[in-house]
Amino acid sequence: MQGLFEPLETETREGAQLAPVVLAVALDQTYDYIVPAGLEVEPGCFVLVPFGPQSRIGVVWDKSVGEPGKPVDPKKLKVITARLDAPPLPEISLRFAEWIAKYTLAPLGMTVRMLMSARAVFEPQKPRFGVTIVGGAAEPPRMTPARQRALEIAADGAIRAKAALAAASSCSTGVVDGLVASGNLVEVAIPEKRPPVPDPCHRVTEFSPEQDAAVHALRSAVDGANFSVSLLDGVTGSGKTEVYFEAVARTLERGHQALIMLPEIALTDQFMRRFEARFGAPPVEWHSALSGPERGRVWKQTATGEARVVVGARSALFLPFSDLGLIIVDEEHDAGYKQDDRVHYQARDMAVVRGSLGAFPVILASATPAIETHVNARTGRYRHVVLPGRFSGASLPDVTPIDLRVTPPDKGKWLAPPLVDAITKTMADGQQSLLFLNRRGYAPLTLCRSCGHRIDCPQCTAWLVEHRFRGKLHCHHCGFSIPLPEKCPKCAEPGSLVACGPGVERVAEEVAERFPGARVALLSSDLIPGLTEMRDMIRNIEAGGIDIVIGTQMVAKGHHFPNLATVGIVDGDLGLAQGADPRAGERTFQLLHQVTGRAGRALTEGRGYVQTHMPEHPVMQAIISGDREAFLEAEIANRRKGLLPPYGRLVALVVAARDKETAQLVARDIAHRAPRSEKIEVLGPAEAPLAVIRGRHRWRLLVKAPREIDVQAYLRAWLADLPPLKGDIKLTVDIDPYSF
Ligand code: ADP
Ligand code: ZN
Repeated sequence: MQGLFEPLETETREGAQLAPVVLAVALDQTYDYIVPAGLEVEPGCFVLVPFGPQSRIGVVWDKSVGEPGKPVDPKKLKVITARLDAPPLPEISLRFAEWIAKYTLAPLGMTVRMLMSARAVFEPQKPRFGVTIVGGAAEPPRMTPARQRALEIAADGAIRAKAALAAASSCSTGVVDGLVASGNLVEVAIPEKRPPVPDPCHRVTEFSPEQDAAVHALRSAVDGANFSVSLLDGVTGSGKTEVYFEAVARTLERGHQALIMLPEIALTDQFMRRFEARFGAPPVEWHSALSGPERGRVWKQTATGEARVVVGARSALFLPFSDLGLIIVDEEHDAGYKQDDRVHYQARDMAVVRGSLGAFPVILASATPAIETHVNARTGRYRHVVLPGRFSGASLPDVTPIDLRVTPPDKGKWLAPPLVDAITKTMADGQQSLLFLNRRGYAPLTLCRSCGHRIDCPQCTAWLVEHRFRGKLHCHHCGFSIPLPEKCPKCAEPGSLVACGPGVERVAEEVAERFPGARVALLSSDLIPGLTEMRDMIRNIEAGGIDIVIGTQMVAKGHHFPNLATVGIVDGDLGLAQGADPRAGERTFQLLHQVTGRAGRALTEGRGYVQTHMPEHPVMQAIISGDREAFLEAEIANRRKGLLPPYGRLVALVVAARDKETAQLVARDIAHRAPRSEKIEVLGPAEAPLAVIRGRHRWRLLVKAPREIDVQAYLRAWLADLPPLKGDIKLTVDIDPYSF
């Protein structure tokens, strides 16, 4: 592929080839490098290049991108140091990176960085060595019982790590070394493990007529072998997973790879077991809990095509699949798909983009689709595949409001009498209850009864949350923490501090008092040391080893607890109290619906209870009546009227600085420089919803534009003319912000 690059006409470097390279840093263009004689490079391959005083990893691009500026003095051109030993990126990955950079306004180098998320692919692979038996060798000169045992085990001819052979034969590795020295064992490289291959025909699932129709619709989307988006819209327990597995099976039959995206991949042991039951082999996992070498291995296996089905978090989108033919975005409404770090992107939407670039179908699945997705399904842009009822025939749980104004809990308690009665009855029936409160820790606020001081974070606009089990006060935004103080830090009055409001730890305390015989599990991310403990806990709940589960939102996602009969929402109003964010209603509806939907998924009849001060609120009404449509109508009408997404486009610009005045002044100045436009509104600056995080004051501008406007072009023109930001001032651009 050498001819692809323009030859360089100079005296000094006559005939040298140039290659455009995107460096994995915050720059938005390619740089030309000289390809040294004898080095073969091709678009998509990784190279090491000198950049300033440093050496950087970059990707050879297939064209020049960005401002070339004035022609570079050929004498200053630098030479590619080396080509890295990793599979080159497929062309589609280059186009995907360009698309995201253009859409999110992130520098191309930053989106390219996401494509090489597994640094370990560049590290030279050290082959692991093991030992195997040498056939026909003479008996070792000195035979001991330990040597005898080791040789007997090795007799099967397998390749084992020395330590593994030693352990299996209960001897030291010294014994194994001795057998190598005597020529009875030989050291050989252990071959790389290949991922097991899922078999689309491993198990045949019997479907209900409704499920069957959905399976047909999704299969025909796969057979269409073209870009399409389907919304698989079905209540909790309707069998969405079983149904989309058939689309995966069809994709495998057609010889393509499939990607299943899940929001909480680390917690999905249950999902993996179901996958294995259907396909006879586990999928390849991709998430942040993988070690560096594991990431490197998975990255390569997607490039070679050895990985047939990957189940992953949002970053799995950027793996270099050689032949991807389907993406499923499960729980597509989940806020976890929005990345708000470095490159701000919505992974659900980028999955759709990836499908369109690769000309294959995308399936979005949810029991509570995002408003944007609903509108797309209604207008026919997405196919709407509906699963109306639960597979088991069970109905959705009846949800009863508990009006806290009428039946409040006792003083200092958080569970109202009707909820306590419901749990008591559930326990008497030998079934499980779940209490949900989306708040970690013991109490969200610590107050001084004497001077009224509220203990807050010195670096954020947030109270410190008491974590009693750990004896600490914590900031949930920056991680700041102090030991629980014995007296008020302000007035020093001893014994005057009181914990206000409940967190899950406090609910657990009340449950222990009220139900002393109950077996209780408290699921909160900060109380569970690791994945293994989490898995064991979930399995114990599944198996019926727990009577009362208490948890934060980590219990809301995807779990299937067959014995769970009663769900109690401790504070239904929590999400609605959060400011003026128009998404608060949608988010609260989704969360409450998902949590109450955990009840009665098998044949037990489920009941839900929501403690609330405002049972007449439209979100509560929708949850109680189970009438999603009326709620959606109202929400969609609001969005349309306010020209909010998906009827209009929103962009958030946030200016952050250590000094409050500076942040505000800079934000105002940026607002003043906005190009005039009749159709585009620039709102603010106003203090961002979390005004201070980690000691940085944040002011926000919201740009509101009609759908048909190229808002990126408008922003590019605007931002290009800004004076450079000085000192610690930072500007972030968030296209399609999650909160608005
Ligand atoms: P959803 O993803 O819509 O919440 P699931 O796919 O988790 O629903 O299905 C709920 C339960 O019903 C699971 O235990 C699943 O195994 C079972 N189920 C769904 N459809 C079938 C089917 N056709 N045959 C057997 N079991 C099914
Ligand atoms: Zn803080």
